[in-house]
Amino acid sequence: MSICRHCGASIIWLAAPIGRLVPCEIGLLKVLTETAEKIQTPRGRVPVYEVRTGYLPHWLSCPQANEQQREWARAFGTAGGNSPRQGEGR
Ligand SMILES: [Zn+2]
Repeated sequence: MSICRHCGASIIWLAAPIGRLVPCEIGLLKVLTETAEKIQTPRGRVPVYEVRTGYLPHWLSCPQANEQQREWARAFGTAGGNSPRQGEGR
């Protein structure tokens, strides 16, 4: 566990698929994501959703993050699907 040097929040560093460490909020989130599948209902064909578990990149919630950091974090969304490895602290 580390401390964000910008706002002082407790964060963890997780290894992202691209091989970089990403500062993340502590605690897993459950999020609903739309799948490509659809099912027929009385109201027509509707998408199937699945629950995924992931971590929220801290730069999306850090009050001190700049727009470039937020853009970068949005590219990751939540690290859903895989269980990310705990990274080395900084
Ligand atoms: Zn912060």
